[in-house]
Amino acid sequence: MMIADPKLTTTEIECAPAPARRGVNLAFRTLTAVVPGKSREREYRLGIHEGDWHWGADRYREWAYSWMKHPDDPEWARWCDGWCHGSGDLPFGSMSNMMRRMKDEGWEYLQYWGHMTDGIDQCCGNFYWPAPALGGPEGFRQGIADVHALGGRVTGYMNCQTWTRDSYKNDSLRRTPKSDLPQAALDLIHPPEWFEQWRLHQIDGSALGYYASTLGWYIMCPASEGFREHLRWWIVEKYAKEYGADGVYIDQTGATAAKPCYNLEHGHDDIGDWGAGNVEMLRQAVTQARAVNPDFTISVEGSGDALGQYAGLHLLSGLCTHPEVYHYTFPDHILISGQLRCAGARAVPAAFSDHLALSVELDVPEEALRTAG
Ligand SMILES: [Zn+2]
Repeated sequence: MMIADPKLTTTEIECAPAPARRGVNLAFRTLTAVVPGKSREREYRLGIHEGDWHWGADRYREWAYSWMKHPDDPEWARWCDGWCHGSGDLPFGSMSNMMRRMKDEGWEYLQYWGHMTDGIDQCCGNFYWPAPALGGPEGFRQGIADVHALGGRVTGYMNCQTWTRDSYKNDSLRRTPKSDLPQAALDLIHPPEWFEQWRLHQIDGSALGYYASTLGWYIMCPASEGFREHLRWWIVEKYAKEYGADGVYIDQTGATAAKPCYNLEHGHDDIGDWGAGNVEMLRQAVTQARAVNPDFTISVEGSGDALGQYAGLHLLSGLCTHPEVYHYTFPDHILISGQLRCAGARAVPAAFSDHLALSVELDVPEEALRTAG
């Protein structure tokens, strides 16, 4: 089953055993707007064949690469064995110590989460100014430079769909009081008008909360010109140009539900343009970042064929149950196993047998992280 749609209109595909297992129920569901006086066509394909899933994977690959680009990964990402995960509470002045510890274990890629102003209490935030408590922007830039001097790589964390709606009026950005931030950072906190303009619009026009009661997050529209520019600016102008990072990880890009957006003044002409919006964001960001740093790479959560035109590394979470199928279909996409933290030791041989690179966490002595330099 597949749908032939280079526009990437949001479509669900379902295959389930029929009652009594005497057949299968097949379903396609597309989110598209059909305005009065217009019609829309969808091209679905169904292959009936002998043998197993390899036949379908071969046909899908032929169609995909009839119009998608192959990944263009920097050499270091192509050969890395995976990354070592750093999350929150890692002072920027201690990144080089972390890298020394990593290199002792054979790793040279630090996947750094929790470095942003509103993320130091766990892993994830959406205001990407390097946290003052960890060393601020200059500390982050110097920490990355120190890691580079050791032959290592560092990428930072962002999210494809979230913004803290009330950050403009809150006294703090989670654990960071606004009084700790310079005016240059405060000027980057978007006003409510920006949120209203570029947030996801549900069918009744309302906003969509996401951990809204605890974190105050809301879903933005990745297909909107404004939110796409927000991410592009942080990735290119700050992380690539100013901080010297080797890339960014964009959380949830290939792992969250594609949500319809009914505000057609966002720059998208259909309600099902979520996925295409993310692809365009990746294209703009990686193209411009590569002009600054040819070794820049973007990784995403989940795996995605169209996303993989521009994303270098795909982090598999629990949502990807058959990595061997994806790997066979797109052998030049690099998959990272994200199962090691929760699944324990059994996950390691499984990851190797599936030819996955690894996301690991090292047990780093507290004193090593606290000693600057
Ligand atoms: Zn929209």
